[in-house]
Amino acid sequence: MKRVAVLGSTGSIGRSTLDVIASHPDRLRLVGVAARSQTGLLAQQISAFRPPLVSVWEPAAAEALARAIGTQEILTGLEGLVALATHPEVDVVVVATSGREALVPLIRAIQAGKRVALASKELLVMAGELIMRLVEEHGASLVPIDSEHAGLFQCLQGVNRQDVARLIVTGSGGPLFGKSAAELAEATRAEVLAHPRWQMGPKITVDSATLMNKGLELIEARWLFDVPFERLQVVIHPEAAVHALVELVDGTMLAQLAVCDMRLPIQYALSYPQRWPSRVPRLSLAELGSLRFVAPDLEQFPCLRLALSAASAGGTACAALNGANDTAVAAYLAEQIGFLDIPRVIADTLEQHTPIAHPTLDDVLAVDTWARTAAQERLQSWSLR
Ligand code: MG
Repeated sequence: MKRVAVLGSTGSIGRSTLDVIASHPDRLRLVGVAARSQTGLLAQQISAFRPPLVSVWEPAAAEALARAIGTQEILTGLEGLVALATHPEVDVVVVATSGREALVPLIRAIQAGKRVALASKELLVMAGELIMRLVEEHGASLVPIDSEHAGLFQCLQGVNRQDVARLIVTGSGGPLFGKSAAELAEATRAEVLAHPRWQMGPKITVDSATLMNKGLELIEARWLFDVPFERLQVVIHPEAAVHALVELVDGTMLAQLAVCDMRLPIQYALSYPQRWPSRVPRLSLAELGSLRFVAPDLEQFPCLRLALSAASAGGTACAALNGANDTAVAAYLAEQIGFLDIPRVIADTLEQHTPIAHPTLDDVLAVDTWARTAAQERLQSWSLR
């Protein structure tokens, strides 16, 4: 029996994780849940699973939950997340909150030698070098939930590292695939938020539309699999049946295919190295008919280019990229800026940043804070014009 704590249990990945746990009652037990403020859903999860550990980020929301559910002790804030991430009764920590507040709990879980199932790519983008060094030092294991990385992780099982030539992540192209520059400028929020293949939270759906998501994923892959950027590639694949490919030195390619259902990568991150049956629908190749693959358009979608240039700058450049992107996407979702302003905010922020090489956790957090402030100031200067 594996005992699982889920940081971010009310988000899209968190809810799917609870589904997976419910479908394997003989193998998995939910022992901890943490959420930011969605206490209504959290109360339902607590009554369904009875996890002994509960944490709510915002103290006021924790009080509201305490009133709603009665007796149980509720932890709060960063301390609460760290308590869940390091608790001796927890075997696997699922990290599925997109915010920076999960970085310290992630690091503490690694230092406690836990299995970490990581959905929050932003954390590896911010601090990948540091995180992977700690994984090594503490003998922890970090298993990806992000679907492309779960695909790479599966293709790499049983493959000698020296036989790997390239890692390829696919992207559906997002909701704006194939649009002209004029159409992109006019794209409405409803169009941007209507992803053709995946049901996800709003932040990652906007990242999919800008292709920043693929940029973040290349950075994530670089750290997870310790592969230099020149051996990583993005290819647009609108059917989203192939999630990732590994090219070997002899030219052979191994691919991972499955339906777009996050319960599959989540389950594998929990079951690994075993494989368990699942209720996920099967892929019908005959129904798919054909598969298309095209190179991404870096002119139309400058966010991917910005991610690549931050990646090659190295050090804290990716933390600055991530902080600026978070701020720009939040402003876009709040209808403060247009779609094409997102890369402008990020580019302006990156231009002001001098990366720090081999950053510590404090360096990463300081640059993240700086980038958010710098991006916010840029947004304010625009609104004053
Ligand atoms: Mg992904």
